[in-house]
Amino acid sequence: MNILLVEDEVALSNAVKKILEQRGFFVDAVYDGQDAVDYATGMDYNLIILDVMLPKMDGFEVLRTVRAAGVHTPILMLTARSTVPDKVTGLNGGADDYMTKPFDTEELLARVGALTRRTGEVIVNDVRYEDLVLDVQSAVLRCGAESVQLSRKEFEVMKTFLYNPTMTITKDALISNVWGMESEATDNNVEVYISFLRKKLKYLKSRVGIRNLQKIGYRLEVEPC
Ligand code: CA
Repeated sequence: MNILLVEDEVALSNAVKKILEQRGFFVDAVYDGQDAVDYATGMDYNLIILDVMLPKMDGFEVLRTVRAAGVHTPILMLTARSTVPDKVTGLNGGADDYMTKPFDTEELLARVGALTRRTGEVIVNDVRYEDLVLDVQSAVLRCGAESVQLSRKEFEVMKTFLYNPTMTITKDALISNVWGMESEATDNNVEVYISFLRKKLKYLKSRVGIRNLQKIGYRLEVEPC
């Protein structure tokens, strides 16, 4: 189960991410409305948790934009405001549920449970790209008959690439996605894990490689057959 968490208060985001990860959810955290739209339209999530007051684009606009783009993922909106007009705006705009801040952990988990059940049984899909298959439950990366176990961080980095196979991903994005915005991780940490992953891709004899774009970031590249 993959959840997109859109919340600009970093402490709250980290706390919610941790709670959800402890329950076995995979959580991508983003911190503004524009990233929310990019992630929500670029990847498949089982649930989107969306704050209303956000930088760049507010939650209602994000909601309208992703629904207009054909994203049907259940959306749980978070708001500090509990007034009726806000609720009406959210639900008319295609939100599935509403939660007012502050909320407690049990309430959050109950609502997340209800919304993710609504989409059916827990189906954790493998992530596929070209000749690679990433098993998201076991963190095993496969290519043809070969397979290799990824460490937790390698898995998180690889998952970020495989969900965004044509996107250039900056080191900062990898740090915030894999290590967390408040972590002490630096570009060095990213480089180390990229080199681990390159070795594993080589071992697997995959046609997929990780290309270094000077000063920009990384992108997957595929060798022609
Ligand atoms: Ca906010």
